[in-house]
Amino acid sequence: MTGIDDLSLRDELRGKSPYGAPQLEVPVRLNTNENPYPLPDELVARIAERVAEAARTLNRYPDRDAVELRAGLAGYLTASTGHRVDTAQVWAANGSNEILQQLLQAFGGPGRSAIGFDPSYSMHALIARGTGTGWVSGPRREDFTIDVAAAEHVIGEQAPDVVFLCSPNNPTGTALAAGTVLALYDAAQRAARDRGRRGALVVIDEAYAEFSHRPSLLPLLEGRPHLVLSRTMSKAFGAAGLRLGYLAADAAVVDAVQLVRLPYHLSAVTQATALAALEHTDTLLGYVQQLKGERDRLVAELTALGCEVTESDANFVQFGRFADARAAWQTLLDRGVLVRDNGVPGRLRVTTGTPEENDAFLDAVRELMKENER
Ligand SMILES: *Cc1c(COP(=O)(O)O)cnc(C)c1O
Repeated sequence: MTGIDDLSLRDELRGKSPYGAPQLEVPVRLNTNENPYPLPDELVARIAERVAEAARTLNRYPDRDAVELRAGLAGYLTASTGHRVDTAQVWAANGSNEILQQLLQAFGGPGRSAIGFDPSYSMHALIARGTGTGWVSGPRREDFTIDVAAAEHVIGEQAPDVVFLCSPNNPTGTALAAGTVLALYDAAQRAARDRGRRGALVVIDEAYAEFSHRPSLLPLLEGRPHLVLSRTMSKAFGAAGLRLGYLAADAAVVDAVQLVRLPYHLSAVTQATALAALEHTDTLLGYVQQLKGERDRLVAELTALGCEVTESDANFVQFGRFADARAAWQTLLDRGVLVRDNGVPGRLRVTTGTPEENDAFLDAVRELMKENER
């Protein structure tokens, strides 16, 4: 039988594992930060209408530049942040993962490097590897915040071509202060210019921005052509199955990703569905408000149960501390509750579910804590 090792695979991919959050059929699934609420019926009906309309012209390629959708996304960003964003500053793709991949195809690649501050979103390093971009793992403090001086130091030393910041950060839930972003942006530009380069791309992954206690970092784009914000409809819009991510940046960055995107990458069906979702923004953001309340309840109740909880600005909560996180994960799974072991020592991550799912999760943790005391 042929195995993967018998193939002429690129050396840097040998022996590696693919991204793999377990997709298990259990009663309470709180492991991939999805929105627990299905789309409302009115929106489902509107999607059917919009998609039927798009189906009439599926013999043709879709709008390659997705202009109507980008205008809708720009309108959403402008309305929700109070900071004006134009269509030319927005780009959309199949999930923000594809956005990040296009950014690394254009700004990373062989001979170039990217940095992230771990623990953070594991896909940043995986997409770097897939695009032949070198990866530097930067540090975080014990409490999972970024130590600005330490981060400036690594950036100065390594002069990465791309800097990934994730706010609110997955898997810790930690948000970044605007001052931290500005300091690291300046450090990255300094390091790049010292080596005779034009700049370094700083990408803020804001997949969970809508769940944060803090305002979006989007206004920082003003006057910073090397700054990019990445967003998604997978979490706040409750549409992980749609695969729609987008970025906001200087229009020049949008011109740059067009050099590497596949032609017609965003199907007419995807564009129609995302446009329908944007028409129902208010309803969807209503669910976000409920989830923020439940997220805060999880933080409070986990703390009351004696867990060490990381403050969260996202739709999930990191909790511990367990002598053996893997064993704790298994105990919860045995009780029908699937959470995520991100490999952070002693910690697990739970996605905010419906009130009933959260109750089931909290009951399971209560029993786990009792067992651990014994
Ligand atoms: C979930 C998540 C994404 C979303 O990826 P999509 O491809 O848009 O589904 C991006 N970044 C982070 C940090 C995430 O946790």
